[in-house]
Amino acid sequence: TSSVNLDWIKTTCAYCGVGCGIEAKAEEVSPGGEIIVKVRGDEDHPANFGRLCSKGLALGETAISDGRLLKPSINNVDCTWDQALDHVADKFKNIIAEHGPDAVAFYVSGQLLTEDYYIANKLMKGFIGSANIDTNSRLCMSSSVAGHKRAFGSDTVPNVYTDFELSDLVILVGSNLAWCHPVLFQRLKEAKAQRPEMKVVMVDPRATDTCAIADLHLKLQPGTDVALFNGLLVELAEKNCLDSTYIDSFTEGFESALTSARNEFSSQQARSEALGIPLNDLQQFYDWVCATEKTLTVYSQGVNQSSAGVDKVNAIINTHFATGRIGKPGCGPFSITGQPNAMGGREVGGLANTLAAHLEFNDETAYKIVSEFWQTDRLAQKPGLRAVELFDAIDEGKVKAVWVMATNPVVSLPNANKVISALQKCELVVVSDCIEHTDTAEYAHVKLPAQGWSEKSGTVTNSERRISRQRNILPPKGEAKPDWWIMSEVGKRLGFESAFSYNNEAEIFQEHAQLTAFKNNGSRDLNLAGLSSLNLEKYNQLSPVQWPCDSQEKIAEQNTDSAPIRLFSEGGFFTPSGRGQFIAVEQKAPKTKTSKEYPLVLNTGRIRDQWHTMTRTGLASRLGAHKPEPFLSIHPQSAESINAKKGDIIEITSRCGSALARVNITTDVSPTQVFMPIHWTNMTSSAGRVGVVVTPEYDDISGQPEAKFTPVNIKKH
Ligand code: SF4
Repeated sequence: TSSVNLDWIKTTCAYCGVGCGIEAKAEEVSPGGEIIVKVRGDEDHPANFGRLCSKGLALGETAISDGRLLKPSINNVDCTWDQALDHVADKFKNIIAEHGPDAVAFYVSGQLLTEDYYIANKLMKGFIGSANIDTNSRLCMSSSVAGHKRAFGSDTVPNVYTDFELSDLVILVGSNLAWCHPVLFQRLKEAKAQRPEMKVVMVDPRATDTCAIADLHLKLQPGTDVALFNGLLVELAEKNCLDSTYIDSFTEGFESALTSARNEFSSQQARSEALGIPLNDLQQFYDWVCATEKTLTVYSQGVNQSSAGVDKVNAIINTHFATGRIGKPGCGPFSITGQPNAMGGREVGGLANTLAAHLEFNDETAYKIVSEFWQTDRLAQKPGLRAVELFDAIDEGKVKAVWVMATNPVVSLPNANKVISALQKCELVVVSDCIEHTDTAEYAHVKLPAQGWSEKSGTVTNSERRISRQRNILPPKGEAKPDWWIMSEVGKRLGFESAFSYNNEAEIFQEHAQLTAFKNNGSRDLNLAGLSSLNLEKYNQLSPVQWPCDSQEKIAEQNTDSAPIRLFSEGGFFTPSGRGQFIAVEQKAPKTKTSKEYPLVLNTGRIRDQWHTMTRTGLASRLGAHKPEPFLSIHPQSAESINAKKGDIIEITSRCGSALARVNITTDVSPTQVFMPIHWTNMTSSAGRVGVVVTPEYDDISGQPEAKFTPVNIKKH
């Protein structure tokens, strides 16, 4: 224990996209004995100012050796790091030589740190020469990314968390904030308690704990959000609530967006019927928005996980463009991400359709910038396969090697049994993870032990574009290594020695920051020039900082004033014309339809105290007390129709497959809908893996799967 630092260390939570600051401390239970980790909220961190939720508070209990992957192995036989890395590099080399670079792939994760993500992207796109690197963030917020790019010309979130406190009307769309972003919920709840005149509107087919602070709950029909916000655009125009100066000065396409919205329904009465919302409630909502300058629309997976997710995002943004309510205190369209580093992954190019540093494949100049910066002539020339397409290609034998990092696609991807069949056919499956037994690791040929929270070191970016350090508290368990080190070692063995010779994560961050400013004179949204010369010492001392941060002076200003950076209040978009783009959108039905055989709609989501597939939160026993087993929420009428009583096990079946769960009879869901959480796996339940049931349909523009709308039937088991 002599090497363990026993001081309080500032770090960041490993879970959701709020990105709370944590102070953590290693503590000896007895002198020279077992080490535990204590945590408390960091009062200086602008995301949480000392608050934490149940998951964050239990992080220390998960920093244990139980269940950890401690040694590399090939075909379940322990080996040395050299043997494992040589094996992976040789197999990749042979497959690429025989079938080309698109025959290999990485499937990575919003749990990775930015430095890990950067190396994954650089290795796959820059040197292996394929863009077949996608991430579980595809399942989380890729529709928001695509919507931002259409409207703003860049994947830029214009808002900051203080807007939750400054707003007079907060509209939560497809977000169970109380469970999924609990600290933002706490901030909103406290703000509303101080200013009871503040209104909160919930837009969600399901009643959730978030309803506790809602003044109005619009229980819309699943998938009808575009009609709701198109109706708002029409209302804003008819009630003369438009900001013509903003529209004329900074945007394009208003008339066609309004025409499209107007043509959708003959009247607001017809619209309310299609939405399944009483006309009075709909009118109340529209009246509040018309009357409230400081309107903030916060949206999450209920919007994104849809085959019309991108259109939904743009329908929301259209209403903010129309009122000029963007980039000003307390107003704007605000996408909040699910994962701790979904934003950092987006920044380095972790999605298969982005090049790097928010640069795009279809831009010749961008292509030259990245090739020159990385000094490579092997840069991938076209976007790669997105998550669902990627596993389909593995199943079809087109992709022959896949390296899965820090994620569990056998549980989390839709049509999850097809993922198993794909992995079983794959010539080489490499899994790097901090946990030994996961549903995906069961199919791995090579397992590589990665460092987990409390051991690894790097940066993450939260939903308000704030970069924070995650710092190591404990020495690594067993032979675990940083993900960036593992990939760099394989990169060197593939023959790219000079491109992957890093001594520490600070060098990688510095390189990433330099790329954001390379040859562009600060003209892009993502500009980290002010961070591009951080040496290891300064990197280790880095305080949370928001981008854009194009100079050290601006960073110093942030540190003295804590002045949040909002964007687009006076245009400044990154589109070719420099104007924000209204997008004409129309309501589209989900891709799969209910039928006599599958009459109900399955909605999926998170619960309060678990994270993803429970590999980490499952280690803290107190977190299991909240909801100890997989459950299926059904309406009393549905229960009656199958004669289900409290305590029964229900089988839920879609066109893809079946799962089992304990019934939860509740009016929180409507008679035509059911809800099941995403967390349980074959490791933690007998058959509660809901991914088996979820449809693999996705949004054609974003590739994001439609996890909120799967036609199903139910019966007693
Ligand atoms: Fe962690 Fe999110 Fe909870 Fe904050 S709100 S403590 S980031 S899980």
